[in-house]
Amino acid sequence: MRRATDWLQSRARLTPQKLALVEVETGLRLTYQQFDARAARLGAYLQQHGVRKGDRVGFLALNSAGHLELLFACAKIGAVFVPLNHRFSKPELAYVLDDCKPAVLVSFEPFAELARELIAEVAIELHVEEPLYQQIAATEVGGGVPLPVELDEEDPWAIIYTGGTTGKSKGAILSHRAILWNSINSVLSWGLTEHDVTPVYMPMFHTGGLNALTTPVLHAGGTVVVSRDLSPAGILNVLEGEGCTIALLVPTVYHLLVTSPEFQAATFTTMHTFLSGGAPCPHTIYEAFWAKGLAFKEGYGLTEAGPNNFYIHPDRAKQKIGSVGVPMFHNEVRIVDNEGRDLPAGETGELWIQGPHVFSGYWNKPEVFAETLVDGWLRTGDLARRDADGCYYIVGRKKDMIITGGENVYPLEVEHILEQHPSISEVAVVGLPDPKWGEVVTAVVVLAPGAAANGELFKEYCGGKLAGYKIPKRWEFVRELPKTSVGKIDKKAIVHLHTQHET
Ligand code: ATP
Repeated sequence: MRRATDWLQSRARLTPQKLALVEVETGLRLTYQQFDARAARLGAYLQQHGVRKGDRVGFLALNSAGHLELLFACAKIGAVFVPLNHRFSKPELAYVLDDCKPAVLVSFEPFAELARELIAEVAIELHVEEPLYQQIAATEVGGGVPLPVELDEEDPWAIIYTGGTTGKSKGAILSHRAILWNSINSVLSWGLTEHDVTPVYMPMFHTGGLNALTTPVLHAGGTVVVSRDLSPAGILNVLEGEGCTIALLVPTVYHLLVTSPEFQAATFTTMHTFLSGGAPCPHTIYEAFWAKGLAFKEGYGLTEAGPNNFYIHPDRAKQKIGSVGVPMFHNEVRIVDNEGRDLPAGETGELWIQGPHVFSGYWNKPEVFAETLVDGWLRTGDLARRDADGCYYIVGRKKDMIITGGENVYPLEVEHILEQHPSISEVAVVGLPDPKWGEVVTAVVVLAPGAAANGELFKEYCGGKLAGYKIPKRWEFVRELPKTSVGKIDKKAIVHLHTQHET
């Protein structure tokens, strides 16, 4: 086992005056030296107030520089950072806090009141609210430098509670090793350098906002820009104004962006890569970027592995639409059948992942972990296939696969066809219980402005493009699709809604 290193300190030594962190809404701009000093002061304060190696540090805030300052403050004192999902309800937050029992809760506005109530309910000793936090970070209230702690790579650095898309939220434990190797894989595969500037729009309580580009760009010595304005105009202002080079957004945010009038006029002079991740990306979005001569590609990730796992060259992304590319450096993947046998190219099976970026457990849930990581392989629960050139395609979640009249239907394949129809703005395909078919393929559609709801027409459109059994038999038209706290289409909620209506 190797000693874990404090990379922020190394960065501050290498490029002290380089701009590290920007918070658009407050105007905060920190060099690596300032960022490191703030994280050190916060670490020292927490240590002096009883936070020890292995203790959890909960953080309840909107996206902020605080997420990264506390992440590195925790690294300095061996504590475990737990960013909390501020979109969770109070009982959901109480569940998470009761599960991980933090020694301290740090809260920013507008959540201080909620944090006080939670502390009373869950009995947390220490509460640091935003004014005190800012004072500690900016001055030497905490005494400046934390006492050194012995840390090795297997020690936990963060716990990220998953969104609960597939059940109750679970705390995925990320070790120093896992976060470091996700970063190494990403820097090497994507070629990140100190010239990279990335905005953070994915939530920082989620692996997408905390780890996908953020920690790798900091590792490479680039700049991270935190902004909360998710409107197309807000995003475009930040990309242009801060000279961003690479961005990761979820497909639902890309959808809003490409359908906005501002997008048509934007030139994106500094951007070299647009990345989509977290959920399947409609091909119409790829095309909107390509039509402007911009590089657009899809990544595949999950909290439990990295999250970054694949790499595709922008030119190849055009030849292989929908492919996430090849496995990154230091990442082994397999596609297996239900018996765990490797499948040949072209066949769909479960994606298994092995590498140093893989997580090391679910907090308090060893039995779930034992089913998820078996013989060193992470069973992702996602279906994928590989083509003859070794490029991988994500086919969808295993749990979302529809079995209708004995045939398997992969919703993503049907969604990708329907998304191309000009009258369809967004669509989710789900299997609803049905006495005749077992499950009936159902399309839940948000129409494009002014379009008419006509399932028969859409069925006709699918003819010749999809086998008959894959064409939705049921069509539901809705104003909007339910989304998870990360902005993914929430299929569990859709199925629940539509089965509830019937009872
Ligand atoms: P929970 O674990 O609580 O159910 P979640 O599965 O959404 O939540 P995350 O770690 O946020 O947890 O997301 C990982 C999942 O997102 C993957 O397992 C996969 O199903 C989906 N995903 C990520 N990227 C892609 C992609 N490019 N295409 C299709 N699906 C994707």
